[in-house]
Amino acid sequence: MKIDHIGIAVKDIQNSLKFYRDILGLEFNGTEKLKDRGLQVAFLQIGESEIELLEPISEDSTIYKFIEKKGEGIHHIALEVDDVDNKVDEIKELGVKIIGKPSSGAGGKRIVFIHPKSTSGVLMELCQNQ
Ligand code: ZN
Repeated sequence: MKIDHIGIAVKDIQNSLKFYRDILGLEFNGTEKLKDRGLQVAFLQIGESEIELLEPISEDSTIYKFIEKKGEGIHHIALEVDDVDNKVDEIKELGVKIIGKPSSGAGGKRIVFIHPKSTSGVLMELCQNQ
C-alpha cells in the first residue's frame, strides 16, 4: 500500500495553487469537475503521491459543509489498493465502518470512504487506479 493522495478542503483552488504550485513548486496535474459531488478538484504531484485540493462548487457538497464547520484543512487521506471492492468486503467483515458503497471518483478511480470511527479519527479513502 501507499498513500495515493491527501485531500485538502479549500475555498478557492486558484488561491491555494499560489502556495502549492507557485511557492512550493509542486507539479500541477490539472483540475477536474465532479458535478455529482459538487466539487472541483486539482491535483499536484508530490513524489509517488498527490495532493488533492477540493473546492466546493455547490452548497450541497460535503466539502462545503466541512469548510463551514471546520474551515479549510486536511479532509482525508487516500490509500491505494489493488481492488477496492475486495478490500471493502474483507475489512467490513472485520467490523470496519464503510461510508456508502464504492463509486467513481476523480480520474475515474474507484473509491470508497472509511468512517473516522474506525480509523482513530481520520476520514480515509481507499482508491483503485485503473
Ligand atoms: Zn480523495
